[in-house]
Amino acid sequence: MADGKEEGRERRGTSTSKKNAFCSFCRKSYRDVGPLVEGPGDVYICGECIDLCQSILEQEQRRRGSSKELFKEILTPREIVATLDEYVIGQAYAKKVLAVAVHNHYKRLHLDWEGSDVEIEKSNILLLGPTGSGKTLLARTLARMLNVPFAIGDATTLTEAGYVGEDVENLLLKLLHAADFDLEAAQRGVLYIDEIDKIGKTSQNVSITRDVSGEGVQQSLLKMLEGTVANVPPQGGRKHPEQQYIQIDTTNILFICGGTFVGIDDIIRKRLGNRTIGFGQECGYKEESDAAELLPKVTTDDVLEFGLIPELVGRLPICCSLTPLNTSALMRVLTEPKNSLVRQYESLFQMANSELAFTDDALQTIAKRALSKSTGARALRSVIEEVMMDIMFELPDQDQGSKYVVNADVVEGRKQLFNMSPPKTKSA
Ligand code: ADP
Repeated sequence: MADGKEEGRERRGTSTSKKNAFCSFCRKSYRDVGPLVEGPGDVYICGECIDLCQSILEQEQRRRGSSKELFKEILTPREIVATLDEYVIGQAYAKKVLAVAVHNHYKRLHLDWEGSDVEIEKSNILLLGPTGSGKTLLARTLARMLNVPFAIGDATTLTEAGYVGEDVENLLLKLLHAADFDLEAAQRGVLYIDEIDKIGKTSQNVSITRDVSGEGVQQSLLKMLEGTVANVPPQGGRKHPEQQYIQIDTTNILFICGGTFVGIDDIIRKRLGNRTIGFGQECGYKEESDAAELLPKVTTDDVLEFGLIPELVGRLPICCSLTPLNTSALMRVLTEPKNSLVRQYESLFQMANSELAFTDDALQTIAKRALSKSTGARALRSVIEEVMMDIMFELPDQDQGSKYVVNADVVEGRKQLFNMSPPKTKSA
């Protein structure tokens, strides 16, 4: 045996003797490509293929190196909040909580990486807040900043095995898709699970295709949130025994669960001892200020009472609430974020070589109208689209190089922004 090994080692070297040998990779002959390196068992490789292999390996090393870059520099909570501020208006408390959690999460990965024996526990996050208050936006901005794969899943599509619907593992598949099937990157990604409140047992939104209590889904989420090696079917759908699975370790995936938890303010109010909060206040925005005052006081007990099982709540140790956006916050949402709606319309006008501006009272009217729709900042787009519809229709037919100012009268439809005369070519 030893002789055989020696023989193999001897044989590895450039082959100049076998004139009719050819490269086992590109099939070119010794005569075409020059000296070949010989391996054991009549295997040869030419210089060109060695170069190619070298570049493939370098590329792979570079790719791995870049995904590790995440660990070289950990953003401080203050830096994280500063970046979040560029995109998300208000929600200072939620930003702070998220920044600390994410900072610690990546520190924790850093410790793992250096082989420390202190194990910092995973800190998944539960975000509570009315629709359109920026839950998804916060999670999405975080993921962009951290340069890790980010996916959004929806808890309402999930059902317990045996019912029509999806397995919880399909959420991980989304993360894998977001990471372009780079398993290592996916295992450090951020997964946002929306509508987590809809799997609570007291949910009114119970579908007949789901286990009625919703507890089955909550149970199956437990392991995933805590950290397990999950078997993910590459094609999605229900798992079945003959299938091949991709194994994803969820230990280092940061889970952010979000939900509107409609009615949780009543639970908080009850817990606080039936005190009528807001008594004696002006009636104007009473309902809104109620929720805004109550939501920050949310505790895990309230979430439990809402219908999430204790084991699940226990695995979401950070619970923070977002407050409803009021008129002034909505006005800021319209103008301040980097890709705000107003900036988007300004760009559209610039493309048509014109200028657009909104007056403060126009922004206020739009914000108030959006507020009345009770869908938070989400309503802003539909309101502004409605206001701008006619204007965008007419814009290409207008004189270029002009400046247009949208004021409250235009928003209310009392005044037209342009001289709406039909284009000359069309007039009879
Ligand atoms: P939800 O809280 O229901 O997850 P989203 O985060 O998806 O709401 O918000 C919907 C849209 O509303 C976002 O795309 C964003 O444009 C806008 N938006 C919501 N909240 C804010 C906020 N606090 N600051 C800036 N924009 C916001």
